[in-house]
Amino acid sequence: MDVYFQLLNPLVFLIFAVGFVAIHRTKPSQAVFLVATAYLFAVSAFLFDIVHKSLPEFWGDIWVVIIYAVGTAVLASGIQYHYTKDLRAKPLALATALHVIVYAYWMYFGNFWMGSFSANFGTAIIFAIGIYGIHKHLHGTLDKVLFGICVISIIQNITRPTAIALLAGEPLTTENYSKELFLITLHLSIAVCAVSMAMTLLMIFSREIFNDMRQTSFTDMLTRIRNRRGFEMDAEAFFGAENDKPVCVILADIDHFKSINDTYGHAFGDKIIMEFAEQFESKKTAEGIAARIGGEEFAMIVPDKTIHDATRLAVEIRQLASEMIFLYEGESVSVTVSFGVAQRHGTEDLLAVLSRADEALYVSKMNGRDKVTSEMSLSVETLKGVKGMLERRNNRDRFKSTEIKPV
Ligand code: GH3
Ligand code: MG
Ligand code: MG
Repeated sequence: MDVYFQLLNPLVFLIFAVGFVAIHRTKPSQAVFLVATAYLFAVSAFLFDIVHKSLPEFWGDIWVVIIYAVGTAVLASGIQYHYTKDLRAKPLALATALHVIVYAYWMYFGNFWMGSFSANFGTAIIFAIGIYGIHKHLHGTLDKVLFGICVISIIQNITRPTAIALLAGEPLTTENYSKELFLITLHLSIAVCAVSMAMTLLMIFSREIFNDMRQTSFTDMLTRIRNRRGFEMDAEAFFGAENDKPVCVILADIDHFKSINDTYGHAFGDKIIMEFAEQFESKKTAEGIAARIGGEEFAMIVPDKTIHDATRLAVEIRQLASEMIFLYEGESVSVTVSFGVAQRHGTEDLLAVLSRADEALYVSKMNGRDKVTSEMSLSVETLKGVKGMLERRNNRDRFKSTEIKPV
């Protein structure tokens, strides 16, 4: 058999190993690291397989089996770690050691039949131990496909040597190793399983990076709560035309924040924003949404509550905020926050309710700040005046753009 054909497998595995290393560099993870290592092990196993004929037969075989077994254990560990954050180091080390001993025993006594079977069965058992339990953690189609490939790999490791033995009348041995039937079956079946497993793993790991990036684009980097884009994205679920369940919006804006920045510095201002964000987020209901939608502005969706309940919640948050103490060079600094609360009428869109919450917030500011204003408490005259004022300030434009301004 042409040595170039035998070089195909290590080359393909090397390409996958490089792919996993690249993913690991983009987003370091122990799972990807283990899988990359396993594929590098496979590369060396294949290469060693080609050159080991120059070694004394017995030790050459033992080395190939050791490299394959360790590679298998590492691959299974990577997959296991990805799903359960668990490593089966001890059972895997024990199984690998036993596997090598059993194989060495049969080969030492020249029983190639049993040597060949134990090499394959042992690898299957190591892999099965390594991945056992991940079936409870398969969430998406790709995860299920990966699990299917794992199961097929285990099955083929058991059926292939049996099939070869039955077809050829003898098992795979060092003597008949280079006969085409054995070599092609062995390399092809391992390659098909390992390549499809590598492709699926690459997709699973890349999907994770993609999801992370998606999550990042919806998250405010300073406070780690949703940003404006994340808020609009998630809030839409409550404002569809088909959805007419009650929902309220709370807007919050820290008072005189500019002068806090001017007095204590931007870094101290950031600290206040972070602390308030944490408190604000902690007060949302389980189905609710909290976000930092601007510099020192926050919004909350309060689903399935009346405007009276939402207003009560805003009062609680206002109280909480006024009790927060920040230390600046030994000096105690506190802040106040103004709120506006509005509820959805009929099948209004998010923008309409946000605009009314903003009008209510503006009234809180006009009335001396550190207040909660519900749109219910506003007279038609007040609203008219506020609307005019906000329009003059072009304030409403804030709710017309989905762009996030750098904050
Ligand atoms: P008001 O009571 O009317 O809300 O007054 P204000 O000073 O809070 O309002 P204004 O909108 O004029 O100022 C908001 C300030 O928030 C201006 C800006 O410097 C500050 N700010 C915006 N984003 C950040 C941020 O990420 N960190 C810090 N430290 N300050 C920010
Ligand atoms: Mg503001
Ligand atoms: Mg402010």
